[in-house]
Amino acid sequence: MFEATIAGSLPKPSWLAETHKLWPQWKAAGAELAEGKRDATLVWIKAQEDAGLDIVTDGEQSRQHFVHGFLEAVDGIDFEHKVEMGIRNDRYKAMVPQVVGPLRLKGRVHATEAQFARAHTKKKLKITMPGPMTIVDTVADRHYGGGEEGRIAMAMAFADLLNQEARALEADGVDIVQFDEPAFNVYMKDVNVWGLRALERAAQGLRCTTAVHICYGYGIKANIDWKKSLGEEWRQYEQIFPAIAQSSIKQVSLECAHSHVPMDLIRLLDGKEVMVGVIDVASDVVETPEEVADTIGRALQFVARERLLPCTNCGMAPMDRDIAVRKLEALARGAELARTRYG
Ligand code: ZN
Repeated sequence: MFEATIAGSLPKPSWLAETHKLWPQWKAAGAELAEGKRDATLVWIKAQEDAGLDIVTDGEQSRQHFVHGFLEAVDGIDFEHKVEMGIRNDRYKAMVPQVVGPLRLKGRVHATEAQFARAHTKKKLKITMPGPMTIVDTVADRHYGGGEEGRIAMAMAFADLLNQEARALEADGVDIVQFDEPAFNVYMKDVNVWGLRALERAAQGLRCTTAVHICYGYGIKANIDWKKSLGEEWRQYEQIFPAIAQSSIKQVSLECAHSHVPMDLIRLLDGKEVMVGVIDVASDVVETPEEVADTIGRALQFVARERLLPCTNCGMAPMDRDIAVRKLEALARGAELARTRYG
């Protein structure tokens, strides 16, 4: 009960990459970089196990950014000529690569880190990938003709590639494949028209557990400012959860700690396993186990305890490493306390 896990990413050690950045530069190259990525993966598997988490991830140590880490393995994308694009409905500007031809995987995307992580932990292992809608929102289209039709065609093409990699991850022994869809909280209408269909296509045929992470973004300034504009109650989930509840995706991850999401929206996910965000990634204040257990207690009014997984609100990539470790410990201890309180 209350299997504790994280959304996915963890900070990169300062010897591997720039710290406190969403798009950090690597500090090594070639074989040295590859070795550094493996070492950092091992560091974080150990840290998650030591903290007492039940489901661990590779901490996304092998990718520069959660979307571009996937795109780098795709043929048909021009990384040489990036263009500036307003993403997440123009919430912030990013330099993004361009889709310039038919999309095809060059080979495996996350084989190295997944197989390496699998070989070094007996815990349940989760690997994350960006969802199709979020990818489409983080890349420029020079091939699919633009407009809604172009976006949908491109999303379905990416969904097929994600599915190909997800099946391979399952064969690697990964227990949970999670798709990150922060765009779901921005384009709610599109989620119901095509976003969810693309997500299910990415997950089709998988026998391992499938999950979707939907959040209000990393704790960076543009996101914090955006959250301030959303008012007292954040009801975005209300427009998409009913459809997600009907979908084939098994687990849903959402923000709860220090967010303005009305907790009763969890009710709309009837039948799903719910990863309840009990750790705020936009604050350096480390939660106490009591606070974590309290948030779990509030969520328990709306989801059965067998289906509640305490989690972080979002990834921790841009955080301070030491604080991230202490937050992992708070998460695991809070879940433990909740087992005594509500078990
Ligand atoms: Zn997130």
